Amino acid sequence: MAATEHVDLEQFVEGVKRRNPGQPEFVQAVHEVAADIFDFIQDKEQYHRYQILRRIAEPDRVVSFRVCWEDDKGNIRVQRGWRVQNNNSIGPYKGGLRFHPSVTESVLKFLAFEQTFKNSLTGLPMGGGKGGANFNPKGKSDHEVMRFCQSFMTELYRHVGADIDVPAGDIGVGAREIGYMFGQYKRITNQFTGVLTGKGLEYGGSLVRTEATGYGVVLFLQNMLETKRDGVAGKTVVVSGSGNVATHAAEKIVQLGGKVVTLSDSEGFIYDPDGIDQDKINWVKAHKTKRRGRISEYAAEFRNAEFHAGRKPWSVPCHVALPCATQNEISGDDATMLIKNGCAAVSEGANMPTDLAGIGVFKAARILYAPGKASNAGGVAVSGLEMSQNSARRSWKEGEVQDLLTGIMRDIHGRCLEYGRDRDGYVDYVRGANIAGFKKVADAMLAYGVV
Ligand code: NDP
Repeated sequence: MAATEHVDLEQFVEGVKRRNPGQPEFVQAVHEVAADIFDFIQDKEQYHRYQILRRIAEPDRVVSFRVCWEDDKGNIRVQRGWRVQNNNSIGPYKGGLRFHPSVTESVLKFLAFEQTFKNSLTGLPMGGGKGGANFNPKGKSDHEVMRFCQSFMTELYRHVGADIDVPAGDIGVGAREIGYMFGQYKRITNQFTGVLTGKGLEYGGSLVRTEATGYGVVLFLQNMLETKRDGVAGKTVVVSGSGNVATHAAEKIVQLGGKVVTLSDSEGFIYDPDGIDQDKINWVKAHKTKRRGRISEYAAEFRNAEFHAGRKPWSVPCHVALPCATQNEISGDDATMLIKNGCAAVSEGANMPTDLAGIGVFKAARILYAPGKASNAGGVAVSGLEMSQNSARRSWKEGEVQDLLTGIMRDIHGRCLEYGRDRDGYVDYVRGANIAGFKKVADAMLAYGVV
């Protein structure tokens, strides 16, 4: 086989832009990873010759489909659904479903690309995928959400399966939505298989799955702090978001003796100088899931708490920041403000919450900075454990799953150190995660030849 001409990073990113017009999030995610991979593969001819990175940055397939449903007033509504199957070199496609009006093909392609590296980092046999729809569950009745989920699954079921592609939850997709979708899959196929994760405990779900992403974010933080002989106790922590990841990250911080002072949603953030303790976290969980309420109402419920409309929490002084809402929520200016106010560690719960400028600021300040693909991998890791339990038709005890999660987060941290440690001791967790995640997928692809 003739050797392929090498391109440099700039030419590579230009090519990605050209082939994916109007997809800024996808280009951003590929750019961030490619910068590290280009250095790593510089002297590794095989990866160049077989165009491995170029191939990982081209999804195996993108399925897009119409989702029609009827609202409570009898109006016919039309949404667009997608499933992006990015890469299944090391296992069935695996990744969440997002229901949010901001969902586009670009957002899902970036998430599926990131998921490929994240799943590889867990050490479990899972490829990368992601899906969702531009549907807004907010303000919809349970029956409307059910009809939407059933319609969505009526198309999706042909593309997924326990050994093919196993979706899970993400923004806007929690236990309620997974239940409706699993019910519809079962009805259409007449099969009870582990086709979705994040299921209820009554029908094949795993203990600790609900908590896993948020808990994992803090376990990763703990691993990073331990490299400095430090811990979570006594730290003031700023958290964004108030959904699944944010509330469970906050819960773990409180368990370990830290003080959480903020939470947020898309309308603004609350600051509680007294600290958001377990009782308050329980209130937020019930408020957001059962009552489908807004975080602004926290300020009316708890004395001394303030609501800051239309703002993000990054101006609040803290030792640790945990962005757990959505992509690009920390800009270069936000990152600079965090550092100026004393923030020394960032562990990402959301996917790509820090933009390229922000990442540059954190790296230049040489703080402990964990990218989501490493620090939020606990969720998909326990999803992988849910798949194992489903295949074996058994359920593990809470302590067993907790221990496995703790071990997996420690191992991911170790893999980041292996490829991310500089000669002077500084750990570039972004580089470590990118290279460790890439290597396993790349080597599997080399084994398969050109397919
Ligand atoms: P939820 O739907 O439970 O919560 C999302 C939270 O983020 C809500 O508080 C929501 O506020 C806020 N949010 C969403 N979009 C925006 C926006 N554009 N601007 C500001 N705030 C916003 O989702 P999750 O907690 O599950 O997911 C949060 C992040 O974590 C996402 O990036 C997701 O991809 C990532 N993640 C989740 C995993 C999981 O297991 N659930 C696994 C790994 C990563 P509002 O209610 O106003 O929309």
